[in-house]
Amino acid sequence: MVLITKSIFYSLSSLIYKTMKTKDKELLRGGQFLVKETKCEDVFTPEDFSEEQVMMRDAVIEFNDREVIPYKDRFEAKDYALTEACMHKAGELGFLGVSVPEAYGGLGMGFVSTMLVCDYISSGTGSFSTAFGAHTGIGTMPITLYGTEAQKLKYVPKLASGEWIGAYCLTEPGAGSDANSGKTTATLSDDGKCYKINGQKMWISNAGFCKLFIVFARIEDDKYITGFIIENDSENGITLGEEEHKLGIHSSSTRQVFFSDCVVPVENMLSERGNGFKIAMNALNIGRIKLAAACLDSQRRVTSLGVQYANERKQFKTPLSDFGAIKSKIAEMATNTYAGESACYRAAKDIEDRIALRVAAGNSHHEAELKGVEEYAIECSILKVAVSEDIQNCSDEGIQIFGGMGFSVETPMEAAWRDARITRIYEGTNEINRMLSVGMLVKKAMKGHVDLLGPATAVADELMGIPSFETPDYSELFSEEKEMIAKLKKVFLMIAGAAVQKFGAELEEHQQILMAASDILIEIYLAESAILRAEKSAKRFGEEDQKGQMAMARLYLYNAVDIVIKNGKEVIVSFAEGDEQRMMLMGLKRFTKYTNQPNVVALRNTIAEILKKENKYCF
Ligand SMILES: Cc1cc2nc3c(=O)[nH]c(=O)nc-3n(C[C@H](O)[C@H](O)[C@H](O)COP(=O)(O)OP(=O)(O)OC[C@H]3O[C@@H](n4cnc5c(N)ncnc54)[C@H](O)[C@@H]3O)c2cc1C
Repeated sequence: MVLITKSIFYSLSSLIYKTMKTKDKELLRGGQFLVKETKCEDVFTPEDFSEEQVMMRDAVIEFNDREVIPYKDRFEAKDYALTEACMHKAGELGFLGVSVPEAYGGLGMGFVSTMLVCDYISSGTGSFSTAFGAHTGIGTMPITLYGTEAQKLKYVPKLASGEWIGAYCLTEPGAGSDANSGKTTATLSDDGKCYKINGQKMWISNAGFCKLFIVFARIEDDKYITGFIIENDSENGITLGEEEHKLGIHSSSTRQVFFSDCVVPVENMLSERGNGFKIAMNALNIGRIKLAAACLDSQRRVTSLGVQYANERKQFKTPLSDFGAIKSKIAEMATNTYAGESACYRAAKDIEDRIALRVAAGNSHHEAELKGVEEYAIECSILKVAVSEDIQNCSDEGIQIFGGMGFSVETPMEAAWRDARITRIYEGTNEINRMLSVGMLVKKAMKGHVDLLGPATAVADELMGIPSFETPDYSELFSEEKEMIAKLKKVFLMIAGAAVQKFGAELEEHQQILMAASDILIEIYLAESAILRAEKSAKRFGEEDQKGQMAMARLYLYNAVDIVIKNGKEVIVSFAEGDEQRMMLMGLKRFTKYTNQPNVVALRNTIAEILKKENKYCF
């Protein structure tokens, strides 16, 4: 019995295996992490920030500490004017133009720096974080990436400086996840000089104080929507709904926007007719990885606040932080934060390097950025899902550490928890992103961009063979962990290969299988990123010095293995039967087996003791 037939993948297309090199580092294509080994020297980590990046980070932290965090109460009281004022201040300091080319009034910094600003500016309140993300990401970026020179010169400097705030109008009452199904229309005038826009958009962030909308509308019966740049002018057929009353992000302005015979000059069309869906999706790709970054510093802060409270608060004459139950929470919160950071900055640098390669090959900067991010769309979806769920869990455990006080609006945990909730919904829901991550990987294999066939066939052959009974040599740092990651990749290949074989093009109909496969993919990327970062740090700074990072990487992997077992089993028992099922379950067992089980309690205690002593998240 062959679980994974060769024909299914051979028929997909010619298998061109392409890798590119930057300097002496092999730069993997998006999704290739699954079938290629990455060396720790080849991953970028937060420990690798340049002096300039550290200075930028410190400036952003200082801004957040000064302008945002002290005003938590006002943000919770729906002070939209405060959010707007903060946006203008962020613009004056250049933070809104970090990724905007210098020619259009920005700082023209690289992708890692852009991520870094999103990361550290976002932790004060979800309200400002959302305003910042909507403006810099989906509000400004479509123009820098797709605008004509005239459009860029006219609009981008105003957006980069914060003089104008931008918003993005894609969602409609009947068109959410199915974004191309919008009913807003764009009708060309008889003289061919302008379009009239009619329709209703909803859930539009920054609508209450923006000066510019990126709007998607359909021309005639076009298959795909078209993008437009529309200035906010109440005398030009634009009206706003009332502010939405939301669970969280209270001071983020969210309104419906109505267009009634709104006149837009033809020169304000973004890119070409019918290109809107592509613009929307590419903007979301970039938005997704930035949203992941935007959840990181919240996790750091929530973890630090949890540790500080646990150190101060005594019950049974003992600080909470001395209780094993609380240590476990602190350790898990820190570990997930660490893994998220590791994966985000690893992907960010890969994107930055890919952009540099494309620029060197003659692409314009905006083409290079588009293609560079598109290449890593799988990783962008993985990160969006993983980090948005981590901040939710982190703030939930934060509330638990605070006990009753965690439930009170007087403490920061309550707002952090409510604000975190939206991150699983916007920029593509986590369900959509889970399915996209696996779907895009299968498509890449079909196009021959990632060779899944060779490795999947090798796994099938290995399953048929007799396992080695030799005692492995794990004397090298992290060798057992790296072997485990290689085995988890085999689990994914075994399952995905069998699913593709069984369902073919109808795989996308089997959403529960895609979701489970996606959870495995996510854990592999996050666990590998954590292990590689810890290995790099241990080699650079010494194992004794890095025992916290090493323990977090090991703990993350241990948890990841359990998630892989659960999801792998779920998939196997759902679509395989008889011998095939038995064989795959045996494979799952073999590929998730530790030779030396880590002492999980000891790992958690090591991590928690470090945080307790430092009184904060300190990695
Ligand atoms: C506070 C806030 C701010 C926002 N800001 C903006 C903004 O600035 N601009 C903008 O354009 N939009 C914005 N949105 C809209 C947001 O992007 C959408 O809410 C999101 O894309 C989901 O669409 P929906 O709400 O219509 O949910 P639906 O698409 O109706 O989805 C409902 C549920 O069904 C699931 N689902 C949907 N389709 C499928 C499928 N094919 N298979 C399986 N499950 C599916 C979803 O995952 C979700 O769980 C914002 C939303 C909120 C709440």
